[in-house]
Amino acid sequence: MPKPQPINRLKGFRDILPEDWHYWEFALDTIEDTVMAAGFERADVPVIEKSDLFARSVGEETDIVGKEMYTFDTSKMSDNGRVKDKTLVSLRPEFTAGIVRAYIENGMHTFPKPVSLYAIGKCFRHDNPQAGRYREFTQASVEVFGVSDPLMDANLISVLWEMFSRLKIKGLKLDINSIGCNECRPKIKKLFADYFKRKESKLCEDCRKRLKKNPYRIMDCKEEKCQNIVATAPLAIDNICEECKKHFMSVLEYLDDMGVSYNLAPTLVRGLDYYNRTVFEISASEGRQSSLGGGGRYDYLVEQMGGEPTPALGFALGVDRIVDWLKDNSIKIPKPKAKVHVYGIHLGEDAKKIILRKIKDLRSLNISTGLAIGKDSIKAQLKAADKVNAFFSIIIGQREAVTNCAIIRDMRDGVQETVELDDLNKRVYEMVEERLKEQEEDRGKKVKTKVK
Ligand code: AMP
Repeated sequence: MPKPQPINRLKGFRDILPEDWHYWEFALDTIEDTVMAAGFERADVPVIEKSDLFARSVGEETDIVGKEMYTFDTSKMSDNGRVKDKTLVSLRPEFTAGIVRAYIENGMHTFPKPVSLYAIGKCFRHDNPQAGRYREFTQASVEVFGVSDPLMDANLISVLWEMFSRLKIKGLKLDINSIGCNECRPKIKKLFADYFKRKESKLCEDCRKRLKKNPYRIMDCKEEKCQNIVATAPLAIDNICEECKKHFMSVLEYLDDMGVSYNLAPTLVRGLDYYNRTVFEISASEGRQSSLGGGGRYDYLVEQMGGEPTPALGFALGVDRIVDWLKDNSIKIPKPKAKVHVYGIHLGEDAKKIILRKIKDLRSLNISTGLAIGKDSIKAQLKAADKVNAFFSIIIGQREAVTNCAIIRDMRDGVQETVELDDLNKRVYEMVEERLKEQEEDRGKKVKTKVK
C-alpha cells in the first residue's frame, strides 16, 4: 500500500503552537484587561453571517467584500438535493458589521448609553498571504454606541494607546483624520470625483471602478501609480463642514489634554465604507503591513442597517500582527502562570496505578494536573514537570508504592516532604491554594508599585 500523503493546512492559515501561546495569552489578556478596565463588556457574534450584512455595511465595492470574502451558497448544502435555503453566507471579514446587527437584533438601543462592547475572535479574508497578512487572523474589536461627543473619540483612542503601552509596543505612530459627515461628504465626494476623473487614464483598473462607486476609496489604493495621484488630490480635511471641524478640533484638544501624541494624516480614509468624521490608524513603522489597528466613527451605520439613528465608533486590532511584533522584537513577557499545578511522577507498574488514581482525585478537586506517561526515568519526568512550570510534583517510586506514601516536591526550590497516601489530596490541595494566594498577592504588589 502506498504511504498516505500528509494533508497540509491551507495557504494563509496558520497553526499556533504551544511555544507561541504565551505570546498570544499575553496579548489577548492585556487587550481584554485594558478594555474591561475601561468599562467594555464582551459580546460574541457568529463567525458566519448573511453575506448581505457585510455588503451593506463594509461596502460592496471595498476590497474586503468585493474580493476577499469567503462566501458559501447554502443551497448547495441542502440534503436530498432539495434546496431549502438560498441564503449566501460569508465568514466574517471583520466584527463591526456583526456587532451592529447584534445591537439592533437584541434591542440594545434600550440599554443605558453608552453601550460599550468588545469582541475577540477569528476573521477571514481571502487576500494574497504574506508576512503579517493572513487569510485567517484574530481581531479584537471595540465598539461604543450612543455617544456623539468628541470626548468619546478621544477616550477610545486613549484606551487604544494605553493598550499598546501595556503590550510593551513602542515607537508607534497614531495617524488621525476627519473625513466629514453626511452634510459635507457629498461635496467632498464630488471634489474627489472631479479630480480623479481628470486623472482617470493614469489610475489602476480598480480605482477606475472606485471612481464610479466611491471615489473616497481611491485615497486608500495600494498601487504606487495611484498613490502618486493621491499625493496631490484635494483633501477631505480642507473641505469638511464647520460642525465636523469643531468636532475634530475638540477630539485633538482632548487628546492633547490626555497626553496622547498623534500625527495629522490628511489622506487617511480607511478601507471600509461605514466610517465618517474621525478616522485613525495605529502602526508600528512605515509600510502597509505595519498597521496594528485602526478605527473611527460610524454614526450612520446602525440606522443604515435598520436600527434607530445611533452615533457610534470603534476600532479593530490585528492580534496576529501584535504577536508578530512582540516576537520580532524579542519582547520579554511575563512567564506564563502555572497552568499545571501538580505533576504526577512514578517509577514502576504499582506506582503507575497509584499515581493515575491520585491524579484523577486531584483533578476532581479542580487542581490542574499533568502526567508524563511513557517516560521511564524520574529525572526525565521532573524535566517535563519543570517545562510546564508545575508548582509541585508528586513522586511515587517503588518504595513509596509499598509503604503507601508519596513525596511532594516543590518545583520552585526542590524541597520535598513525604506524606501518607490517605493524606495526599488534602495536603496537596492546601499547598496549591497557598501558592495561588501568593501569586495573587504578588500581582497586587506589582499593581501597587505601579500606582506609586
Ligand atoms: P481593518 O478591519 O482592515 O481595519 O483591520 C484592522 C486591523 O486588523 C489591521 O490594522 C491589522 O492589524 C489587522 N488585519 C487586517 N487584515 C489582516 C490580515 N489579512 N491578516 C492579519 N491581520 C490583519
